[in-house]
Amino acid sequence: MISQNALHHAEKCRFCFMCRHLCPIQLQTGKEINTPRAKGLILSMENKGTAKFDRDMAQTMYECLICDACVNDCATGYQPPLFIREARTEAVANDLAPESVMKLLENVEATGNIYGAEKPSFAREGKDVLVYVGEVAACKVPKMAESLLKLLEQAGVSAKVLENEPGSGAMLADLMGYVDEVAQEAKTLANAINATGLKTVVVLDSYDAEIMKQRYAAWGAEIHAQVVTATQYVSDLLKAGKIAPKASLAKKGACHDDDRLARTFYEFEPIREMAKAAGFELVEMFNKERLAKSCGSAVTLAYMPNIVLKVASGRWSDLLRTEAQAILTANPQSYLCLTQNVPEGKEVVDLYSALI
Ligand code: SF4
Ligand code: SF4
Repeated sequence: MISQNALHHAEKCRFCFMCRHLCPIQLQTGKEINTPRAKGLILSMENKGTAKFDRDMAQTMYECLICDACVNDCATGYQPPLFIREARTEAVANDLAPESVMKLLENVEATGNIYGAEKPSFAREGKDVLVYVGEVAACKVPKMAESLLKLLEQAGVSAKVLENEPGSGAMLADLMGYVDEVAQEAKTLANAINATGLKTVVVLDSYDAEIMKQRYAAWGAEIHAQVVTATQYVSDLLKAGKIAPKASLAKKGACHDDDRLARTFYEFEPIREMAKAAGFELVEMFNKERLAKSCGSAVTLAYMPNIVLKVASGRWSDLLRTEAQAILTANPQSYLCLTQNVPEGKEVVDLYSALI
């Protein structure tokens, strides 16, 4: 069913409880089946022929945010998302994936994005950098995209945005693993980026930045330009004095390190520099940086909203244990999840909008 490499990881995880306390899904549902160990055990049983991979098991494989909290904590280097993604490939191939997942896949096929609607365009001409907006910001958090573009304009950066911006493959890869369709999306986007001839791509959504930087080359979809996260780019503009800091707001805020900045890029300082420049007095949540608890992702919010609402509440409970009035983010997916259930008296702040 899954590859020998993925099976090797599953076989090791099935014996182990060491990261169960870190899984944001297990923490909220309290179900043993939601631990990384249980997912490894299911695939091990299936491989040994003692259980048949069925619809319920497939459902379990989708009750994971692919947040990498387990991977980050694993002293022995095992990676549950490796076998979870491959199990999703099998689930889709064998028509066992949950209906809500299949609906999103149909949406991608029909419109190129998980929302099944025409992706709003932010197209513009520019000569310094290409900005990649991504489908979550474009469809669900357009203010964040507009604010980033406005901020670049104020800093004197001439930014281009593609007409009909292709998908990055990040959503499809979470829904059905690293299959050929994802590689094809990667090639289409890489070709579109390369055709601009621009030397820098500023990527608003760290989930898109991850797949571009970590996966594209292996699929022959090299991006010739330098790919940088928008947070790093804006932080560099702040350091260069191209963006003026705001006056103090006399307000405490805590930065949320999104899953990809926290555990793919280990990028922590840029959002804190942005938060300070926006006038916030910084406090920290207990689970921060590489240990930051996930608040959910856009794709999981789309196919299992009830669980993701609980996960976002779990992140809010971290904030409620601090003196902060606001949770601060520069990621459209985190913004989308956190704004689903804001506790009374608290707010979610989009750091690009706060810097304008
Ligand atoms: S990822 Fe590591 S810590 Fe977590 S279950 Fe697997 S082997 Fe254990
Ligand atoms: S990737 Fe995140 S959600 Fe999935 S099993 Fe690991 S800790 Fe849990």
